[in-house]
Amino acid sequence: MDGHLSMMNMTSGRAVRVAFQGTVLAVFALVMAKSLAQSLIPSPGCLYATHVGDSEQPACEMKDPLDLQQNDHMLRAMKVLGIDRKTVQFRGCLGLLLSVSEMRGGAGPRYVVNYPADIPVVRLIAPLLHELAHVAQMQEAGGATELSSLNNMMSKKIELGADFLAGHLFKVEFKEFELNAFEQNLLVHGLYREMAGREHGDPRQRDLAFRRGVFGRDADLVNATTSQLIRIFRDELYQLVIR
Ligand SMILES: [Zn+2]
Repeated sequence: MDGHLSMMNMTSGRAVRVAFQGTVLAVFALVMAKSLAQSLIPSPGCLYATHVGDSEQPACEMKDPLDLQQNDHMLRAMKVLGIDRKTVQFRGCLGLLLSVSEMRGGAGPRYVVNYPADIPVVRLIAPLLHELAHVAQMQEAGGATELSSLNNMMSKKIELGADFLAGHLFKVEFKEFELNAFEQNLLVHGLYREMAGREHGDPRQRDLAFRRGVFGRDADLVNATTSQLIRIFRDELYQLVIR
């Protein structure tokens, strides 16, 4: 089945990642910093964005070695998406997997964008826009759990929606990049392996979703807000992309 939700809870220096696959629950733990005693919920599916299987993310401090917090591309993307920059924390470590997490109940930023600090920034921009699109999706839905529910627990629907938004971002803000290279960077850091419940969409579907965002000329896409775009993809375009 399609449904999949990944969660990471951090308590007492121990992180427990909980993977729901329909009603199937898998739990495993990894050591994390004690300072992160907050609930951390990676966005559905994207925990698997850069690797295959259930390998664990390494312990990683809440630092931003590539200074993405001040990165012009990230600031521009957040502005277009309507994301308050103060709600997002970037966290990078060597070998860290690209993902986005929701932190509930804490005083700090609500969303954490995790990234590998050993990849040149220019190659990270496209997939980071995909992660910021997840932030926008969670913001629109009210949180990670709500996002999953709105998408019937279908990771593929959420992932293709993020690719669609990344395409929209390219169209309205990032035309300085060459389209094919941008898309290649977007997709190369995305998972392609159709594991039940963790689908990101196959390459053709991701290409269709991204290019719909770039080239979609439908009247209702032209002046749509980010929230409207998210809903249009969820309610209408997704079915067209996966046909
Ligand atoms: Zn994703």
